[in-house]
Amino acid sequence: MNFSKKKKVVMAFTVEKCTKCNAVKKRAFSDGDALFAMSSKCTSCGEITSIEKIFGESLDE
Ligand SMILES: [Zn+2]
Repeated sequence: MNFSKKKKVVMAFTVEKCTKCNAVKKRAFSDGDALFAMSSKCTSCGEITSIEKIFGESLDE
């Protein structure tokens, strides 16, 4: 295999937003994440956050 070519890596991120205090948290996308699905607990108020945005960012390796 030839690894000499520079490759672009696309990282997927998930943005969770708390419906109560509007705290926004960005984390790495994980399998099963879907828009507006309930996600993890808010770190500031304990309310369940929902997924507001899923996006990809390309990183140069
Ligand atoms: Zn909150």
